[in-house]
Amino acid sequence: MDEEVAGGVTKDVVVLGAGIGGLTAAKELAGRGGIDVTLVDRHLAHEFRPLYLSVFAGKKEPADTWTGLSHLSDDLSLVKGEVAEIDASEREVRLEGGDFLDFDYLIVALGTELGPDEIPGLERAHHVYRADPAKRYREALDEFDGGTLLMGVTRTPYTCSAAPFEASLMTDFNLRRRGIRDETDIKLFFPKELPMRKPGREVAETVVKSLEGRGIEYLPSRKLQSVEEGVAVFREEEIEFDLLFAVPPHRAPKPVRESGLTDAGSWIPVDRGTMETEVEGIYAVGDNAKVEIPSLGKPLPKAGMFARKQGIVAAKNITADVNGTRAQRFDGKGSCFLESSYGLLTGKASMMTADFFDEPRPSAKIRFPGNSRLYYLLKSAWEWNWMREV
Ligand SMILES: Cc1cc2nc3c(=O)[nH]c(=O)nc-3n(C[C@H](O)[C@H](O)[C@H](O)COP(=O)(O)OP(=O)(O)OC[C@H]3O[C@@H](n4cnc5c(N)ncnc54)[C@H](O)[C@@H]3O)c2cc1C
Repeated sequence: MDEEVAGGVTKDVVVLGAGIGGLTAAKELAGRGGIDVTLVDRHLAHEFRPLYLSVFAGKKEPADTWTGLSHLSDDLSLVKGEVAEIDASEREVRLEGGDFLDFDYLIVALGTELGPDEIPGLERAHHVYRADPAKRYREALDEFDGGTLLMGVTRTPYTCSAAPFEASLMTDFNLRRRGIRDETDIKLFFPKELPMRKPGREVAETVVKSLEGRGIEYLPSRKLQSVEEGVAVFREEEIEFDLLFAVPPHRAPKPVRESGLTDAGSWIPVDRGTMETEVEGIYAVGDNAKVEIPSLGKPLPKAGMFARKQGIVAAKNITADVNGTRAQRFDGKGSCFLESSYGLLTGKASMMTADFFDEPRPSAKIRFPGNSRLYYLLKSAWEWNWMREV
């Protein structure tokens, strides 16, 4: 399907997914000479997941997490469709309904899929990993009048390591503001000994200290098996609750799992510098990619800050291949805000900066744990700016 233009050959680049990684890559590629870009998503819109916490806080409604993409249609082809199959050897993507897209280069950025079905009874739990559930959790918390609020993470990996801890600190803030914190026990379970361990023990211990400083009991090494009416069943014990919040298991979307590009854990291993998979010309970025942290031999956490950088890297490497321009390498560095309370006058956040490719181990720092008005305002500005610039 290559087409001769002005003496050169135009290459077809197909980008799957218009989330943070795919959209960034597509925008970086759009308008480059010798490249035709097609961006495919099941929605003709971009959903910015970091805003789910604002939906929970009541600052946004689910519709506010979306923004349209039609303004991009001058520079790239937008295709609304459900990706059904990625055929790496035939170099084509099949959409539900039977349409095919063939490609010279492919960027797979389909993110993660939630798997609540993996834990019996998990539909009883609230979470903030989609916009409507985040709103329902807000409503349930507003009706809650005290008791045991059990919060936690069911399985790793999941996207945005910090979000469940932000949600629990924001929950504590909500209850204090309503004057019912003394009537509530908040317990937070996690399937491993420490949360956010990969950036280093210091970061993990700062997170646990922030929770304990707000009277939230941290329950390490608790793997949720099932949920019954008012009872969470762990391998180790049963815990009764009045309200349950649990991050559902995450997995790669079906076409990714069945693409032949994944490892046993269902994510797509990539070269950590270029984001290219084992198949030449096929790249994976963002949450569906598996990037190895060199000093640990473990996967990089899943986060939008990395999805964005990886999207740029994949795009620049493709452009370099086609046009001989300069390539770029992913550096494993990133920063994110951790929100602990909300509201124009009461909102606070901290900031984590990390270098996951540092040697002999990743290095990271949390600035002003849970304490800074400035970081809260900067987080709000970052979200506003992202939605404006899409
Ligand atoms: C509550 C919460 C707070 C967060 N806060 C932060 C933060 O503060 N900072 C940060 O860095 N990260 C944050 N994140 C993480 C961040 O949102 C993700 O890491 C990021 O969205 C991953 O980008 P992606 O492009 O890989 O996938 P996504 O953004 O999930 O995009 C995937 C896209 O693929 C499309 N898609 C999937 N399957 C198909 C299919 N079969 N056919 C067609 N289209 C399909 C989807 O519609 C979607 O548009 C947060 C996440 C959550 C849930």
